[in-house]
Amino acid sequence: SESVKQLHFLLIPLLAPGHTIPMIAMAKLLAQRRSVMVTIVTTPVNAIRYGPKLQQHINSGLPVRFLELPFPATENGLPEGCESADALPGLHLLPNFSAAVDMLQQRLEQRFDSLNPRPSCILSDKFMLWTDDTAAKYKIPRIIFDGMSCFKQLTTHHLYASKVFDEMPDSEPFVLPGLPDRIEMTRAQLPPEFNYTRMATSEQLERVRETESRAYGMVINSFDELEEEYVKEFKKLKGGKVWCIGPLSLSNSTSIDDQHYLKWLDLKEPGSVVYACFGSSSRVTPPQLMELGLALEASKSQFIWVIRGGDRGEEVEKWLSEYGFENRVKDRGLVIRDWAPQVLILSHPSVGGFLTHCGWNSILEGVSAGVPMITWPQFAEQFLNEKLIVQVLGIGVSVGAPVVVHWGEEDKFGVTVKSEEVKTAIESVMDVGFEGNERRKKAKALGMVAKKAIEGGSSHHNLTLLIQDLLELANVRSQKSLT
Ligand code: UDP
Repeated sequence: SESVKQLHFLLIPLLAPGHTIPMIAMAKLLAQRRSVMVTIVTTPVNAIRYGPKLQQHINSGLPVRFLELPFPATENGLPEGCESADALPGLHLLPNFSAAVDMLQQRLEQRFDSLNPRPSCILSDKFMLWTDDTAAKYKIPRIIFDGMSCFKQLTTHHLYASKVFDEMPDSEPFVLPGLPDRIEMTRAQLPPEFNYTRMATSEQLERVRETESRAYGMVINSFDELEEEYVKEFKKLKGGKVWCIGPLSLSNSTSIDDQHYLKWLDLKEPGSVVYACFGSSSRVTPPQLMELGLALEASKSQFIWVIRGGDRGEEVEKWLSEYGFENRVKDRGLVIRDWAPQVLILSHPSVGGFLTHCGWNSILEGVSAGVPMITWPQFAEQFLNEKLIVQVLGIGVSVGAPVVVHWGEEDKFGVTVKSEEVKTAIESVMDVGFEGNERRKKAKALGMVAKKAIEGGSSHHNLTLLIQDLLELANVRSQKSLT
């Protein structure tokens, strides 16, 4: 009989930038392989947002297409066109958003039989829970895209297994169980599942774990050399079906329509600029933002500071403009009020430090650019990412954020980090003394390793292994169905 020679991947990202951006990059990497074609399942507004990144490649023959499913926004009490988590007017609408996302299942299944060739697997975000059901219905494997590191995976696994956190008071440091490195954290810094979450009910988290255990395997946006011991251990746990294929940001084709910022950077000395950004969906309180502003001002360094809409509000806007912040720093600081071309900025030679909320994409983008980091985690698994950067890899300095600030409860926490602490961390990363230089060297070297991983190194190889594995599986299954 004929053997299966082609794979058709159905890519289903979570509708949030931090999850969709790497999936788009993954689509490109996959479709560049001879035996693979890709369909990205998304919604109209997201197709407009992310489609152009691939269009040029699609025009020149890259076998990727978008399947646009209408998103039931208004039916679920969301504003029209609200098709991404970062477009939510308020967090109270998160349940409505989830309900709308769940309705995509039926919409996809209505179209499934018309997909040609028939999809051979689903590669979907860890939180797109219904895709587990769809994969089972159509008898194809589901591979999970986790969006985080093996470091996070392993930590979570051992925390569940050991239950040490159960008896811990909130603010007393304890050693994370079962890890290759000795890492201390407090319970108040752990991800929501260990931290009396407000974001997801334990029932939802249980569902995530359950669907995860049924998945065929897991694709990780990381590279073997970044977290070698952790990758090894995690692979063991998963019976080998773990593939690190990142940093995915290195395969992204970024458009160059943001010349303004780059021109500004062109005029600066190499390594002299701090780039500060808290990701796509953070909501930092105005007083906390002002502390950061004061620190940037007092550090005397040059900087680009991204302040997202969710953070801003009138109070911050007034402080920036009317009360004179921007005026005071105008010769050396640039405030960006909308979406910044982060990957481009980070890879500009003038950037010498990255003040980050430690979202995993941002971390990898900083690593890939070879830039040392000032770490200021906010929520989710970001405190773990901070430990990896500061302690395990030695390429960052912490501002000393003490606790996870839960979504929707920012005001309760107020100011947790003072400008003086932020300033000290900035100065120590930008410092040209011995320690600063060593850190810079390490970061640069790691950036080179990252590039090598994608360009024919470990990540390139792991992607080959993933494709081979799935081709074999498809062949075994087609043989079985013949006999
Ligand atoms: N990003 C960007 N411009 C911005 C803010 C964010 O390009 O102004 C990108 C950033 O490069 C990264 C993603 O958005 O790829 C944010 O993902 P991350 O995991 O760092 O944080 P999240 O937004 O998920 O908290």
